[in-house]
Amino acid sequence: MIVKTFGSCTYGIHAITITVEVSVEIGVNFYLVGLPDSAVKESQQRIASALGYYGYRIPGKRIIINMAPADIRKEGSAYDLTIAIGILAASGKVKADALGRFVIMGELSLDGKLKPVRGVLPITLEAKKQGFEGVLLPQSNASEAAVVDGIAVYGAQTIKEVVDFLNGTPMQPVRVDTQRLFTQAAYAGELDFSDVRGQENAKRALEIAAAGGHNVIMIGSPGSGKTMLAKRMPSILPPMTLEEALETTKIHSVSGKLPHDVPLMTSRPFRAPHHTISDVALVGGGSHPMPGEISLAHHGVLFLDELPEFKRSVLEVLRQPLEDRCVTVSRSKMSVEYPASFMFIAAMNPCPCGYYGHPDKKCACQPQRIQQYMHKISGPLLDRIDMHIFPYSIRQEELLGRKKGESSLQIRERVVKARKIQEARFKGIPGVYCNAQMGERLFRQYCDLDASGRQLLKHAMEKLGFSARAYNRILKVARTIADLDGQERILPQHLSEAVGYRNLDRENWGKEKP
Ligand SMILES: [Zn+2]
Repeated sequence: MIVKTFGSCTYGIHAITITVEVSVEIGVNFYLVGLPDSAVKESQQRIASALGYYGYRIPGKRIIINMAPADIRKEGSAYDLTIAIGILAASGKVKADALGRFVIMGELSLDGKLKPVRGVLPITLEAKKQGFEGVLLPQSNASEAAVVDGIAVYGAQTIKEVVDFLNGTPMQPVRVDTQRLFTQAAYAGELDFSDVRGQENAKRALEIAAAGGHNVIMIGSPGSGKTMLAKRMPSILPPMTLEEALETTKIHSVSGKLPHDVPLMTSRPFRAPHHTISDVALVGGGSHPMPGEISLAHHGVLFLDELPEFKRSVLEVLRQPLEDRCVTVSRSKMSVEYPASFMFIAAMNPCPCGYYGHPDKKCACQPQRIQQYMHKISGPLLDRIDMHIFPYSIRQEELLGRKKGESSLQIRERVVKARKIQEARFKGIPGVYCNAQMGERLFRQYCDLDASGRQLLKHAMEKLGFSARAYNRILKVARTIADLDGQERILPQHLSEAVGYRNLDRENWGKEKP
């Protein structure tokens, strides 16, 4: 007898339906064909043990299991349940007529319990697209899958429950209220900007960055609060839309990094990899391609602390995704694309000792050493950063005297208002949602200056010794400042504030007080 069960295989952040054909004939062998990897091949032992636990057994006959399409490599142990149910159906222990209605996935432990698998969000989306009535998954994966509307999601704890269900024992589908998840997220006690006392200039700069989607670098001495500020960025970025939440969740789902009590990521991710990270871990890849940190930060923030400490090669691989907002990972037989649209925040000390420009402590570095240190950040990478921010060091007693700052919610209201202006401006232009994403044509259209503005900028460029690459960055940031100000035109005050965020471009960095 031949039966068919259905599983699914993730490919990038999408899924492809896998058909598992099981044929039980006279004979005594077990064959598994259709490009399975070693973990799938080992499933025979796990299946035999799990079935034995419930008094079933693999029939002592010739069993052929064919997984299709054959040109896609099937990885891991997630097909244990798909195959086991196929074997039971082919030997008459499970009613075969129900099998065509479900995608069935799950890893088996030796005592027949179901262990979670990766990527159930894309798997469920694909099952729905293919017209399946439902998905049958390990209990701990069920709420993640149930985020998808319009398909029944069943969660089981053991293979026995799956067998009983397919043989007619009713089971309640798992439901998740996505609306409620969003409401909860809005009130979750996240890190808040009101915790940061002082630093009004840095906070203002980060508000501008959030409003226009600008990449920033923060330069400050140890203890100036760079990390504290960066960690609070997600709390002032606009709330996620359902579409964004699904995209980000998919990436975390296929990486197996989604916590089991978080069915949907409704807050923007904040990723802060250590400077020892490898190229592959940062941008994605590997022999079984996986998304990297930049994709896990999709629709959120990627924070690289102590930027000059990162390997040069790591910083180089970051450049292209910063431009394209996605990354393509190529392997001999496949090439997959992962989205990677994130806000980039970098932080570094102003010099090797950390105290260049500090009010109390003396910098021990030679000017030449400071310049070498700055040069570790390549020009092309710096080119993709719009704003340079300098959180200053404050004395502890001064900090205690200060009152609490504005809450993240208050700041976020202004950010959202400025983003609405940008949304209307870029309506109908694919891939452009905020000022930072403007290409050449949009830039010319929306960053136009009048005669006095041009004069002011020309003067600043010459007097402060800016490099040419600063010009567009200054104008884009000025555009955002004008949006926050509710002004259609970029006014002189917007320009001069934007000029203040380009200090690293000045030729005399390291030779004078910052
Ligand atoms: Zn120093």
